[in-house]
Amino acid sequence: MATQKNFQDIISHCKEYGFIFPSSEIYDGLSAVYDYGQWGSELKKNIRESWWRSMVYLHENIVGIDSAIFMHPTTWKASGHIDNFSDPMIDNKDSKKRYRVDHLIEGFAEQLATTDQAAADAVLASMDQLLAADDFAGLKNLIETHQMKCAVSNTCNWTEVRQFNLMFSTQLGSVADESDTIYLRPETAQGIFVNFLNVQKTGRMKIPFGIAQVGKAFRNEIVARQFVFRMREFEQMEMQFFVRPGTQKQWYEYWKEARMKWHLELGIPADQYRFHDHVKLAHYADAACDIEYNFPIGFKEVEGIHSRTDFDLKSHQEHSKKKMQYFDNDLDENGKPFGNYIPYVVETSIGLDRAILMVISEAYTEEDLSTEEKQDSRVVLKFPPKLAPIKLAVLPLMKKDGLAEIARELVADCRQQFYCFYEEKDSIGKRYRRMDALGTPFCVTIDHQTKEDGTVTIRHRDSMEQERIPMSEVKNLVMNALK
Ligand code: ATP
Repeated sequence: MATQKNFQDIISHCKEYGFIFPSSEIYDGLSAVYDYGQWGSELKKNIRESWWRSMVYLHENIVGIDSAIFMHPTTWKASGHIDNFSDPMIDNKDSKKRYRVDHLIEGFAEQLATTDQAAADAVLASMDQLLAADDFAGLKNLIETHQMKCAVSNTCNWTEVRQFNLMFSTQLGSVADESDTIYLRPETAQGIFVNFLNVQKTGRMKIPFGIAQVGKAFRNEIVARQFVFRMREFEQMEMQFFVRPGTQKQWYEYWKEARMKWHLELGIPADQYRFHDHVKLAHYADAACDIEYNFPIGFKEVEGIHSRTDFDLKSHQEHSKKKMQYFDNDLDENGKPFGNYIPYVVETSIGLDRAILMVISEAYTEEDLSTEEKQDSRVVLKFPPKLAPIKLAVLPLMKKDGLAEIARELVADCRQQFYCFYEEKDSIGKRYRRMDALGTPFCVTIDHQTKEDGTVTIRHRDSMEQERIPMSEVKNLVMNALK
């Protein structure tokens, strides 16, 4: 029987079984930065490939690129990140602790709600109004009027509210000079926009078409303590779909459906997902929604689907003075070519790390296997076989009598097709449990009977059922499960 999933247990499991480690852990780690271990990086690669296949290989009109992390600084002026990509922050003068203003007020309102829901709602309503108006003095006033305290110093001794840009900056070249400031990209999308003409022309792409890319993005997140859900260095999988103005609504609906289909194909049930439509739209969007997954910490965003109008290309056209236009020679209803225009864009943007956390959270299962005779339990990661880091473990019952050699031959044969793992240490029972904890869908045991009749025992991870099959069938059985 499966029990309730606990976020802390999942984090510990990721560390203990080589999926995710805190970055530079020997130096006590670096806040909100993580490293993927031997199995985490394999899982990451599998999810990335699944996305790439569904977006690029299965769409005739989508191609992939790999643009640089560093970009010309004007890119971020044009995209609005220099002016708008910031959160209002406040520091407590006594503890020196910095808070995101909305988080400080929300935390206060949450406490207040336990005794006075109406008062808490009023505080939140004032906050929303002040945030929308960028009224920083008003926000500070709200914090002081309600005597909101710092959790560390327990005082209300606050600085002014200031905007804090989330982009990391660095210097190009050896001499530090203001004009040399460049940024680590906070999203991969801009690398696609600035290459719009290059790809359209060299690929002879006809609208509608898409450009996809996977890569690192960096944000100096202020509040970042939810494991790989919110990191300062993370990976995004983004696709910009360029369409004729006026058709964006229909493509927005198309991509909502297509992206949800991909999510369901990860083997996660529909009731674990929901769409969340944005009410307050970003300045560049005419429609936007998130796909949220029911994490052990509640429903939260995994992916955004945004209809971004012509905002980005138009802005790059203005800043670069290069025409970001497309000539559409398809005919309109009056038989005239649609002609020149700046395309509209529908974007799909998913965080690879959040997708990993989602897949692990869904797969993580604690099972009570106790019988009347003995207490027993196991932790198993029920990954769909195509995402599992190890597809097959080959376990000789013992090293002697040539069993290890037979096992190694099978491993060598299977490794041509998929990742296969050889393990001879410990009892078979222990080895099975370890493979359960890594999410390996199949284990094969080589024993003395294998030598006599060429058969092996194959164990299925989820049902724990075992069956005897010819060793020659193992590879195909696994390959079929990967389809
Ligand atoms: P949030 O509201 O959670 O900060 P966002 O709306 O700023 O996210 P987008 O800018 O739309 O996110 O980025 C697209 C996707 O990138 C998100 O859906 C998420 O999966 C991922 N992402 C964004 N910020 C982070 C982060 N700090 N760590 C990990 N993934 C992130």
